[in-house]
Amino acid sequence: MNIPFVDLKAQYQTIKDDVDTAVLDVMQRCDFVLGQDVKDFEKEFASFCQADYAVGVDSGYSALELIMRAYNIGPGDEVITAANTFIATVLAITNTGANPVLVDIDPDTYNLDPAKLEAAITPATRAIMPVHLYGQTADMDTILKIARQFGLLVIEDAAQAHGARYKNRRAGSLGDAAAFSFYPGKNLGAYGDGGAVVTNDARLVERIRMLRDLGMRVKYHHEIKGFNHRLDTMQAAVLRVKLRHIDDWNVARRRIAQQYSDQLADLPILTPFSPDWAEHIYHLYVIRTQNRDALQRHLMEAGIASGLHYPIPIHLQLAYQELGYQEGDFPITEQYAKEILSLPMYPELEPEAVDYVVNTIKTFFEESHLPTLKPHIIAGD
Ligand SMILES: *Cc1c(COP(=O)(O)O)cnc(C)c1O
Repeated sequence: MNIPFVDLKAQYQTIKDDVDTAVLDVMQRCDFVLGQDVKDFEKEFASFCQADYAVGVDSGYSALELIMRAYNIGPGDEVITAANTFIATVLAITNTGANPVLVDIDPDTYNLDPAKLEAAITPATRAIMPVHLYGQTADMDTILKIARQFGLLVIEDAAQAHGARYKNRRAGSLGDAAAFSFYPGKNLGAYGDGGAVVTNDARLVERIRMLRDLGMRVKYHHEIKGFNHRLDTMQAAVLRVKLRHIDDWNVARRRIAQQYSDQLADLPILTPFSPDWAEHIYHLYVIRTQNRDALQRHLMEAGIASGLHYPIPIHLQLAYQELGYQEGDFPITEQYAKEILSLPMYPELEPEAVDYVVNTIKTFFEESHLPTLKPHIIAGD
C-alpha cells in the first residue's frame, strides 16, 4: 500500500465540477485582478473566522509582513514568536527590519509557552506573534493578558489553523490581527499561492488594502508606498468552493487523529495532546519517539510518507546565525526537533490506510529491540 503525506488529487476529485465551473466563470468574466470572487471570498472567510474583515493577499508570508508594515513595525522593534515554527513566520519579521525574539514552546502543546513570555519582553517589544502550530491554537487568554499589560500587539500566525477554536472562538478572531496561508497543502488551500489578513480593526484593513495594491485606494492615487501582494481572482474562486467543505474536512481530520491516537496508545510514542480549551484541526498529526529516524525509514520502506515539522529550529538555521542564539537556548524545541514525526493526514485518508500506518509502526517496535519508554517530557514529570 502506498500512502502519501497529503493527497490533493483525491480532494480535487470530490469537488471537481464546482471548482472547474468557478474557474471557468472567472475566465468568462476576465476579472482576474481583485475581481468579484475576491470580494465575496473576503466576506465569507471573515464570517467563517468570526471576524469583521478579511483581506485577500498572495501568501501567508505576505499576510504576516503586511500586518507588521501596516502597524509600522520595523527597524528597532522587536517581535516575539515561538522557537518552533515554520521559517516564514520569522522571515516576515526580519524582512520588515524588525528583530525576532524567540521563546521556547510549551512541552505539552508545542506552542509558544506563555510562562516564558515576560522574560522576553523589552522596551523595544512591539508585538507578540503566537503561531497556532499544527492546527491547535496557542494559549491565547494568557498571551493576551500579558500583551495588554505591556501594551503589545498580538498577531496570530494562523497559517495552519483554519477553523481551529480556542474556547469556542475561531483562530483569526483572537488577537489584533491574524495571517492565514492558502498554500495548497494547508487545511484550506488554493490551487497556487494565497493568503489573507483577518481582523476586526477597520483602520488596519484600510492600510492592508492599500499596501497590497501599490499604495492606492483610488486608481493612480498613491497615498503610501505599497507593494503588489494581491490575491488572484482565480484562487479566490477555488477558495470559495473549498470554504463550503472546510468544516467537514476538519471533522474528518479530527476523526482520523482520534483513530491514530486510540490505536497508537500502547506504543512507546507520544501522541498529540489537546487542552480542554483547544479544538485542534490537525493540519499535521505529529507524534514523538526517541527512534524517530529509524521509524521514518521503516515507514518509507512500507510505502508510507511522513514529514518533519520542523527538523532544524530557526535559531540553528544558517540564515539566522546573525541572531546570536546558540544550541541549548531553546531546549524543548531542540529536543522535539529530534523526536517529532508527522504522519499522513488529509480528510480523504481511509480508516484502512490509518490501520496500515498503525500496524507498520507496531511492527517497527516489535522487530527492533529498542527501549520501550515513552519520550522523556522535560517539564512537569
Ligand atoms: C505555511 C505557513 C506560513 C507561510 O505561508 P505561505 O502561504 O506559504 O507563505 C507561515 N507560517 C506558518 C506557520 C505556516 O505553516
